[in-house]
Formats: sequence, C-alpha cells, structure tokens
Amino acid sequence: MTLIDEKNKAKYLKERRQAIKEEYPYPKMICFENKTKYDGMVIVRNIDFSTKCEHHLVHIGGVCHIGYIPNKKLLPGLSQVARVVEYFCNPTTEITQEEANQNIAEFIQKTAEPLGLIVIMKAKHDCISSRGVKQRNVDAITSIIKGKFNNIDTREEFLKLVQW
Ligand SMILES: [Zn+2]
Repeated sequence: MTLIDEKNKAKYLKERRQAIKEEYPYPKMICFENKTKYDGMVIVRNIDFSTKCEHHLVHIGGVCHIGYIPNKKLLPGLSQVARVVEYFCNPTTEITQEEANQNIAEFIQKTAEPLGLIVIMKAKHDCISSRGVKQRNVDAITSIIKGKFNNIDTREEFLKLVQW
C-alpha cells in the first residue's frame, strides 16, 4: 500500500466512525423518578436488532426482551430503551450475541439501578443458516439475570408475560 492509500484509508475510517456515531449515538438515558413507588415488573419486549457476528462477519438478527423491577428510577420512553439496544447492537457493529446481551444489561443496571433485571436475546445467525452446517431453524438464546429475577417465581412470571 502506498502512503496515499494509507492516508485515504485513515480518512475513510475516521469518516465512517463519525457517521456511525451520528446514527447510533451513545444513549442518553434519563430515568424518571419512581414517584408512586411502583414495585411491579415492567417488560419491554420485541425490540428488533440486527448486527454482525464478530467471528464470521455475517448477519445476526432477532429480538430482545427486557424486564425490570424498579427501585427509585423508572426507565424513560420506550424509544430510549430501544436506542440502548441499537447502540450496542446495530448493523455497523461486529459483536457476539453474548457480549451484546451483557453490554445492554450492564448499561441498564448502571443507569436505572433496578432491584431486578433480565435481558433476553433471541437471534438467528447467518453463520449457522447459510454456511457450514446450514441449519435454518436454529436460533440462539442468551439471558442475563440480575437481582430479584434470580427468584424462580419472579423469573417464571417474566417468562409467562413475555410470551403473552
Ligand atoms: Zn458467526
């Protein structure tokens, strides 16, 4: 590669990073105060995501379900919750499903400090369906569970409601 190519490449990468930042900005999640001391469960389900597998650079896509039990803060509007998923997991990222799941859960845990949190992701991986074994129906499910969702009854309630 010549020096000019290197320079162009660096410029291209810089511009690309900037464009990504603008399209998927770091989520500014400002929680509401839990004025009524709501102590039930809140579920935000069927958030679509589409990203690329870090190992094979092919498409991974599916849905993310989030459940939490608030303490002092309530998560803000649903679009902001979807933004968090999109920030960590979008068509420009290369990530494993496990890592995306962890990143989303940790972000929400830190921001909303809920008493319990569960983040589940279900995805189809093109690396399974279109190369190698070519298994079309396989999907992968990951889940991160924190706090009150370690209680079996709480977790079962979530699983029932999320499929409702
Ligand atoms: Zn893969």
